[in-house]
Amino acid sequence: SAKPPQDFDVIVVGGGPAGATVSAAVALHGHRVLLVEKETFPRYQIGESLLPSTVHGVCRILGVEDEMARAGFKPKRGGTFRWGRNRDPWQFSFALSPRLADPTSFAYQVERSRFDAILLDNARRVGVDVREGCRVTGVLADEERIRGVRWSGPDGEVREAGARYVVDASGNGSRIHPHVGGKRIYSDFFRNIAVFGYFAGGARLPAPNDGNIFCAAFDEGWLWYIPLRDDLTSVGAVVARENAEAVQRDPAAAWRRMIDACPEVRGFLDGIPQANEAPYDQVRVRKDWSYWKSQLWRPGMALVGDAACFVDPVLSSGVHLATYGGLLAARSINGCLAGNVDEARLFAEFEARYRHEYGLFHEFLVSFYDLHQDERSYFWKARKVTNVGTTELEAFVELVGGLASGDASLTGAGPAGERLTAAADDFERAVRRLPDADDLRNPLYESETFRQVFQEGAALQERGLFGGPLETEAPLRPGGLVASEDGLTWVEPEA
Ligand code: FAD
Repeated sequence: SAKPPQDFDVIVVGGGPAGATVSAAVALHGHRVLLVEKETFPRYQIGESLLPSTVHGVCRILGVEDEMARAGFKPKRGGTFRWGRNRDPWQFSFALSPRLADPTSFAYQVERSRFDAILLDNARRVGVDVREGCRVTGVLADEERIRGVRWSGPDGEVREAGARYVVDASGNGSRIHPHVGGKRIYSDFFRNIAVFGYFAGGARLPAPNDGNIFCAAFDEGWLWYIPLRDDLTSVGAVVARENAEAVQRDPAAAWRRMIDACPEVRGFLDGIPQANEAPYDQVRVRKDWSYWKSQLWRPGMALVGDAACFVDPVLSSGVHLATYGGLLAARSINGCLAGNVDEARLFAEFEARYRHEYGLFHEFLVSFYDLHQDERSYFWKARKVTNVGTTELEAFVELVGGLASGDASLTGAGPAGERLTAAADDFERAVRRLPDADDLRNPLYESETFRQVFQEGAALQERGLFGGPLETEAPLRPGGLVASEDGLTWVEPEA
């Protein structure tokens, strides 16, 4: 059949953080990008707690860091946890040393409707042709590659558009991701359900931690408590998937009951009414979010953000993985469109780095769940390292291919289960040292597991802050590529 005309260099499906990032980063290199978004922004989304790498890394590279600073989002210096053997809350700060806070050691708590609109408006500003209220219904393909999309506008009329690359950034509800790498692989370990809503205020942790996310373990799971504004707090419960029926029968009642079961969070909300402004006046439910794919690209198409993978909400990694994945894909696409390096090699770089980052978070989050002890609780007993099933371990090893943990002491030659156990022990030791810490050094950074998970994020922050890495970047693997000076494409590493 005739190939569709190449109306665009790139078509991006979905205008969330992943889609807004990849589209802007490609348009910044002067290419023609169409972005198709089914909703009209601002639209609601969950995932309000960010990491510094998004704010100071990706947002800086895209040119929206100043706008973010002016938006009035609540600064977040770290996380506070009622989680682990000790009943007392502990915290981690994004600053390497609590006393020597550097200017990039914070993130924000964001109303996603506003944050996502800032990123999407920025994409439009740098030249992306953004079509809201339009839906992609399928892809155009031949044996060789993906060549475009089928989409419909507000009038319902179906159109076709051709492009060199299609990027699926349409989130967890993606319909087109099976065109790359088949089905999603779901995690058993992280197979939870969340029920969440909003209060019109609530107590705050003492300054300077008043912007921290607070996560508290309770019998049935854990709760997040995110200060979005003085008069708005996001509160969500994450519990075992087995609760799905009860939660879905009456989400608001289940949500209230779980808050009541957690003394710390219940205390913060004493006398505070539920929010009644839209879109915060509803209690919502999400489940089955933890999955990955055996492949993240094929000729003509790549997956980024939740369309590709997501681990778990506990460490606020979702928007980081989405924007980071978007940036990685843009580097490969910009490289291909410039025609300097072979397509397969450029996309292999995208895939290796993305899997590596996902793998680090996956490993760390297993360790993080393992930290909490509650022998009486079904939820917590099932979330020990020793409960990561064989099938999941095998799938996971295949996913990361030994990339997840660079440290030989953790990787070793042993099976993945031993490595995960070592990572969990290593992290637990660091948390146990917290009470005796002086305020110069954060013992969590003495944990290899903890340090690694923030390593790539820190490199991104450095790039945002200084316009490039302070040291010559080393490739992730032999024969690999490194980011260009502007952070928007891949180049050969210096010899
Ligand atoms: P999305 O934000 O979902 O954007 C996808 C876009 O694609 C949407 O705007 C949608 O309308 C559009 N779209 C869909 N289909 C089509 C189509 N056919 N055509 C055109 N457009 C389409 N992350 C954090 O960083 N911090 C947190 O605190 C956090 N908490 C979470 C709590 C829970 C319970 C869950 C489930 C997730 C949480 N996350 C969190 C994860 C976060 O929500 C996601 O990782 C993030 O939103 C992914 O961004 P995205 O751009 O990939 O997808």
